[in-house]
Amino acid sequence: MSIEMKYFEDGAEKPEPKVETELPTSNTAHLSRKMDKLIRTLAVVFITLIAITILLLVIFYFTQREPAKEVAAPSIVSTAMAQEVAPSTPAPTPAPTPDPIPREEWYLKLVNRANPLPEGFDVQTVAIDTAGYYLDARAADDFAALLDAATADGMKLKIASAYRSYEKQQQLYNAKVRELSSEMSAEQAAEEAQTLVAKPGESEHNLGLALDIVATYNQRMEEDYEQTPECQWLAREAWKYGFILRYPKDKQDVTGVIYEPWHYRYVGGEQAKLIYESGLCLEEYLSA
Ligand SMILES: [Zn+2]
Repeated sequence: MSIEMKYFEDGAEKPEPKVETELPTSNTAHLSRKMDKLIRTLAVVFITLIAITILLLVIFYFTQREPAKEVAAPSIVSTAMAQEVAPSTPAPTPAPTPDPIPREEWYLKLVNRANPLPEGFDVQTVAIDTAGYYLDARAADDFAALLDAATADGMKLKIASAYRSYEKQQQLYNAKVRELSSEMSAEQAAEEAQTLVAKPGESEHNLGLALDIVATYNQRMEEDYEQTPECQWLAREAWKYGFILRYPKDKQDVTGVIYEPWHYRYVGGEQAKLIYESGLCLEEYLSA
């Protein structure tokens, strides 16, 4: 710098040649100045390029990072939150799963005091033994399979009641009212009889899908029946053949019927499994 400054301050057109170099001083200084300027320019350009590169890298880093965060976020969000968000997005509405309970099918028909059968109700029945018991023809094969399996396991089952016509139910009910009338008023007897024998149309036996099954050596239809291997076998195995225990001990408030460990109702194999596993009685299952 001092040489350059001197050169200008002197204003000499022909500066004295330097000893160290063969080139004229003016040429050397000019070249040096040019080189210096070039180096500085290059340095500025180089630094600027590095700065731009770093800046671009930083911008690239953050722009790539932000969407990754957004993508990662939903996987952290709980299912509950995701479900809350789902309705606001109109497109991906999952197809509703079909109701697994075919309530309108014949084998799930609910019959009780609140849901009586119509007076003209009729059903095609077949004999299920030689003693004159009949069952809805559509349930007969499954009941035969149940009997075969029970017999194979050494069970001594006996049918105590099966299908009853509307008229037969009327006879049973009337007989019970007559029996009770000797002890109370006719009105009281009519009411009391309903707790023991269903009125016509209000019994599952009228439907043709119910059976009372006892042991050959215990036909009393009392609660001690549950002590027998036959009763325990039915409680454990009947669902496999489409039959459920219709009036469980812990469901008397719901069914309105006393615990009947002998009364089995056909609902079909698939539904029997679901009802058995649910622990619900038919009233609860159908209103679920
Ligand atoms: Zn019964």
